[in-house]
Amino acid sequence: MARQFFVGGNFKMNPNTKEQSLALAAALNDAQLDPATEVVIAPPSLYLLPLKEKLRKDVQLAAQNAYFKVSGAFTGEISPAQLVDAGVPYVILGHSERRTLFHETSEIVAQKTRVALDASLNVILCIGETLEQREGGKTSEVCEAQLKAAVAVLKPEDWSKIVVAYEPVWAIGTGKVATSAQAQETHADIRSFLSKAISPAVAAATRIIYGGSVTAANCKELSTQPDVDGFLVGGASLKPEFVNIINAKK
Ligand code: PEP
Repeated sequence: MARQFFVGGNFKMNPNTKEQSLALAAALNDAQLDPATEVVIAPPSLYLLPLKEKLRKDVQLAAQNAYFKVSGAFTGEISPAQLVDAGVPYVILGHSERRTLFHETSEIVAQKTRVALDASLNVILCIGETLEQREGGKTSEVCEAQLKAAVAVLKPEDWSKIVVAYEPVWAIGTGKVATSAQAQETHADIRSFLSKAISPAVAAATRIIYGGSVTAANCKELSTQPDVDGFLVGGASLKPEFVNIINAKK
């Protein structure tokens, strides 16, 4: 079965007002979006509920993070069950900013993934190497190690609720996009790892999306690569060009 193209918008800690968040939603509401593409946006958690009310129903919401405990004394955290209760179907886990700035290990990310799936969330699971690791020829090894932690706690059927986001750290927010050949090569390696570690069927069905300085100018070529099943977009998801990225396959 063909994998449905997927475009996610990660607003990160932007914008700083509810009105601006609603304006981003309104721009999507007014746009012509390719109905063949699954679209998910991840605003700051405070704005999930107001956006839920105003956003068109064919665009889904994601949280940018969730905790690995079901409930309890964890000040400042959000539980997967709370997201489900708020009608949020997706969560981004393991973003490189979480791994680097907030010291989330692959084991923590795997645990978060397990608990999110148990609460019936879908997960956008981010992986990717640093520039030093790429230059050291370690890209596949790093991506595999990050995925292995998840494979260890997931059942084969769990992967139908996971979108893998390959986001090279050196490309995130830097304006240095991976070439389509670099993206394709790494996505193919990730798929081959999933095939060996889980099963050929899971590997064939799992969407592997690319993130890192995706823009309207580079999305079309990246989208032609056979193993690039969509994008996770940071900076450009706050701009009108996000619509062009959603429509990359049109
Ligand atoms: C991201 O934050 O996931 C991302 C890919 O950011 P950017 O598009 O700004 O590089």
